[in-house]
Amino acid sequence: MHNIDSIHNVTTLPLGEGRLEVVCGPMFSGKTEELLRRVRRAVIAHQPTLIIKPATDTRYAIDEVVSHDKNAMPSKVVKNSRDILNSLEVDGKMALVVAIDEAQFFDDELPEVCNELANRGLRVIVAGLDLDFTGKPFGCMPQLLALAEEVTKLHAVCMETGRAAHFSHRIAGGDNTIELGEKDRYVPLARHAFVVFRKKENSK
Ligand code: ADP
Ligand code: MG
Repeated sequence: MHNIDSIHNVTTLPLGEGRLEVVCGPMFSGKTEELLRRVRRAVIAHQPTLIIKPATDTRYAIDEVVSHDKNAMPSKVVKNSRDILNSLEVDGKMALVVAIDEAQFFDDELPEVCNELANRGLRVIVAGLDLDFTGKPFGCMPQLLALAEEVTKLHAVCMETGRAAHFSHRIAGGDNTIELGEKDRYVPLARHAFVVFRKKENSK
């Protein structure tokens, strides 16, 4: 049996909040916007905040996280998820909040790394595509979704039906799971439209 006094003994609590938040959805659903919104509020609260993105995402800028409506904030570029554990300094202080964009591009160790950071008392906010262009769970996102205290699923506007889009349909490019692109390559679709387009694709 736990002693309730020891549970509520604040001296045993880490400095920060220690939690994992995941923001997911298709392309253009506002994941980066939402990540940056949460980061801005943490900065207002004077919490040392670090934004991280994978080296693979070079779409708009090398060292900035940029949303499709051109909102931007400086970020640290990291090759492997383990490197995040050694990049926690921001303006000479240890980060209390770590925001990671495009999580689906990271290696399989990212969930473990995020869990470790949250256990140490950091607030970890992760944004990423939950599904790839074929509609399958993307990379390590399923593990992150399972580990998170809080999950936010966002939707884009379906360009065929105007409904809530949950899928990112690829209109150009190859068959690789990772294929960087914008409106020239991807279109957000609701389920029915996505199923119709995938059937057409598969019967080619
Ligand atoms: P994500 O990170 O999920 O790809 P962003 O945060 O970068 O999304 O961009 C979201 C912005 O994309 C919206 O605020 C809007 O201005 C723009 N946008 C373009 N096409 C769409 C669409 N079909 N549905 C919703 N937003 C769209
Ligand atoms: Mg984004």
